[in-house]
Amino acid sequence: MIVTRFAPSPTGYLHLGHACAAITAYESGDDFLLRIEDIDQGRSRDAFIEAIFFDLKWLGLSWDEPVLRQSRRMGAYMSALESLQARGLVYPCFCTRKDIAEEIARAPEAPQGPDGPLYPGTCRALSDEERTTRIAAGEAYALRLNARKAAEMTGPLSFTEHGRLHPVDPLRFGDLVIGRKDMPTSYHLAVVVDDAFQNVNLVTRGADLLPSAHIQRVLQALLGLPEPAYEHHRLVLDRDGRKLSKRDNAITLRSLREAGATPSDIRARIGL
Ligand code: GLU
Repeated sequence: MIVTRFAPSPTGYLHLGHACAAITAYESGDDFLLRIEDIDQGRSRDAFIEAIFFDLKWLGLSWDEPVLRQSRRMGAYMSALESLQARGLVYPCFCTRKDIAEEIARAPEAPQGPDGPLYPGTCRALSDEERTTRIAAGEAYALRLNARKAAEMTGPLSFTEHGRLHPVDPLRFGDLVIGRKDMPTSYHLAVVVDDAFQNVNLVTRGADLLPSAHIQRVLQALLGLPEPAYEHHRLVLDRDGRKLSKRDNAITLRSLREAGATPSDIRARIGL
């Protein structure tokens, strides 16, 4: 029984890239689930959630209920975070974006991760005393995974991509934020907790998320969660060969539909 999912963030209308991800997941699974990744409450809108349902139905997709909404799952993420914290795998980071940018500018060679330069590790070295004092003083902090410690704890790992084993690089994202300053999770932590909770055993999504499998596999191992197989699919590109963006209104399913496109036109345009 293959269980797949489509996990959009309701921060804009679905575009051709989402249609490709949703149809691929739908066609790859016996059970197809829908998860709304709305942890970012500042950017998520209920109107976009309604539009997601509408667009998917229009494409002819149906999913098993209930639809999971990540904004309602903070308790589950908090427990996962606490279990990592209890094992000393997490440290508070008081840096602002500006602090990090300045630190990186000072470094002769800042290592790059999939989302830009890696966190330089400024707060990793703080003493327990300093941490306690700053937290008691009400300073805002995020929680970062100590990636080296995590790698020592898990030992070598791999993940399965299209049936082939890939070695995990646990340092790919450096010490990434797993609890944001404003919420007890981040994208990566919420995804692994929810993929396990929803019994997803095949994760299909765009190739831009392939690097995420490295760190998500580490988090699964640390949290004792089952390991899904992965199948990242090629991205739908625009006419200039660039990745589609939510800001590009012309390729939303909604505007294509209003311009007269049918669901089979959409499939043809994404090469399915
Ligand atoms: N929420 C992510 C997105 O909209 C997808 C997460 C995933 O498939 O793991 O890009």
